Amino acid sequence: MAVFERPAVIQISQERAHPALIEARNLTVNYEGDDTALEDVSFRIERGDQVAIIGPNGAGKSTLIKALLGLLRPSSGTFELNVPREHIGYVAQHEAVDWTFPVSVRDVVMMGCARRIGWFKPPKREHQRIVDQALARVGMSDFQHRQIGELSGGQRRRAFIARALAQDAEVLILDEPFSGVDSGAQADLMAVLDRLNRDGLTILLSTHDLDLTFGRFPKVLALKRTLIAYGEPQHVLTAETLSQLYGQRLVTWQNGREVSVFVDDHHCTNC
Ligand code: ADP
Repeated sequence: MAVFERPAVIQISQERAHPALIEARNLTVNYEGDDTALEDVSFRIERGDQVAIIGPNGAGKSTLIKALLGLLRPSSGTFELNVPREHIGYVAQHEAVDWTFPVSVRDVVMMGCARRIGWFKPPKREHQRIVDQALARVGMSDFQHRQIGELSGGQRRRAFIARALAQDAEVLILDEPFSGVDSGAQADLMAVLDRLNRDGLTILLSTHDLDLTFGRFPKVLALKRTLIAYGEPQHVLTAETLSQLYGQRLVTWQNGREVSVFVDDHHCTNC
């Protein structure tokens, strides 16, 4: 396999005149008894950004998200959040949900209002209205009375996005939202995310699927234990960056044009 020198990190469009919505500074995460999952990662997310975190399996994408959510403590470095944590909505890759539990989509979305409703109190009309709006924004109004386990993968993701909206999320963080979702549902999900972003939501999601990243995200953060590159896709999704992320690059020619094919040759446990 080709050996690459560690590149200078590309950071583009990083305005510094005002505080970022989220700023990671020199973030390092070590799991107990394990190798370093993230090392010296720094970046800024501005309000209204839509960022795809890319990298091979084991690159540290979920670790970064968990650290951001405060679910695990960095070994060193800091996160500066200029948004209350309760306004950060999270859609996990695998919700810890008993899918056979008799709970409807509407019930799940209402859970996003739990903080506003208060313990042991019934939802009021205003909470019902918030749930109606959240369901409508993700195109799930017609499915609100379905048992949650009856939904397809893409519909489940949309239901959990609606829960985050009911929670009044300003930032939406999704861990591999497209995995296990068929291509039609991926397009629906992407359309929902685009609409929410246009409405002002800041969106940060991880994906190992490069096809979904090309041309769809205004910013891309390339991660492989360290930050490889961050910025606009045309500056990040280069042959050099992709070969650093995914391993060997084969160059072929199609209709007289050079086409790069990346061989995803390893899981990144020791990268
Ligand atoms: P990705 O989301 O990009 O696939 P992860 O953040 O899940 O990557 O994993 C990054 C590295 O941290 C991998 O080497 C993985 O094996 C390790 N790792 C992830 N979770 C744990 C854990 N709970 N305990 C120990 N090591 C972990």
